[in-house]
Amino acid sequence: MMGQVGAPCPRCQHPMEPATVKTAIWRGDSLFLVEDIPAQVCGICRDQFYDETTTERLRRLTEENFASVAPLREMRVPVYSLGGQAVPPPVSLIDDDEVYADY
Ligand SMILES: [Zn+2]
Repeated sequence: MMGQVGAPCPRCQHPMEPATVKTAIWRGDSLFLVEDIPAQVCGICRDQFYDETTTERLRRLTEENFASVAPLREMRVPVYSLGGQAVPPPVSLIDDDEVYADY
């Protein structure tokens, strides 16, 4: 379908699987969620990769601040803060990818 089925993950070389994913995109203080994105996903490191068409569509949506299409729905999102709490001294730097999922 996408011509890249089974392509190796650029990060760990594990064969990737086609999947439908979602992603969150920040534009300033606004958060947009995009669902039903065709992607290749690595089963090991969970990285997700888009083909050129998908990347272009996401880029266009982002550039126009999602103005050209009506949202499928809107959702409320709980917001938390780590501000005002005691922060432990930094012990070591943590790789962002290990902590935060793409979704
Ligand atoms: Zn991988």
